[in-house]
Amino acid sequence: MDVTYRVADVRRRIASAGDPDRVRLLAVTKGFGADAVDAAVRAGVTDIGESYAQELVAKAPAVTEAGVRWHFIGRLQTNKVRSLAGLVDVWHTIDRATLGDEVAQRAAGATVLLQVNVSDEPQKGGCRPHEAPALVKRLGKSGLDVVGLMAIGAAGSPEEVRPGFRLLRRLADDLGLPERSMGMSGDLEVAVEEGATMVRVGRALFGERPRTDPGHPSN
Ligand SMILES: *Cc1c(COP(=O)(O)O)cnc(C)c1O
Repeated sequence: MDVTYRVADVRRRIASAGDPDRVRLLAVTKGFGADAVDAAVRAGVTDIGESYAQELVAKAPAVTEAGVRWHFIGRLQTNKVRSLAGLVDVWHTIDRATLGDEVAQRAAGATVLLQVNVSDEPQKGGCRPHEAPALVKRLGKSGLDVVGLMAIGAAGSPEEVRPGFRLLRRLADDLGLPERSMGMSGDLEVAVEEGATMVRVGRALFGERPRTDPGHPSN
């Protein structure tokens, strides 16, 4: 797999939609082995996204390239926080106070994003948009470094995704938070147009995932 070529292609897509210097590319390696992480790092992408705690815990020690920053982007259960605490650099999917408290306890001062369910789809993680201000305050009080908001785009066409991304942008601006984690392989241009500062890209870099996702297609 020519990850270097695909990284260049994704970077072109980002540049076609906005200022590439303001968008951090995360390579989402779920479903692939440590070799995919190594390939991403060699292609210049050191921000790596993973969705499943057990998979990350198993994969991290097998990575040979140095300098990886691990982003946890999957649905997170409180009882998985402990195993991740020494590994994860950025937690994207904090969406409730109890989960934030657990992260604060296991990884004091951790860098987190609040996940917001901007499309109001019940199967998705994330707090309701109106809950975001109080939760951001609450997470800050427990000592976490809340740097931004995260959302998963609605299923559907790019234009169906756009209102949710626009809402996330507005919420982040209102809260004075600089980071917006939004956009994946299928909708990254819309996300960048709407102000994404981190895009989470898997299939466009590595192809279709070989292993079945252990659940959570919409997490
Ligand atoms: C799997 C996943 C991605 C990457 O999706 P692709 O369509 O492979 O780019 C991004 N964000 C989250 C939360 C994911 O679970």
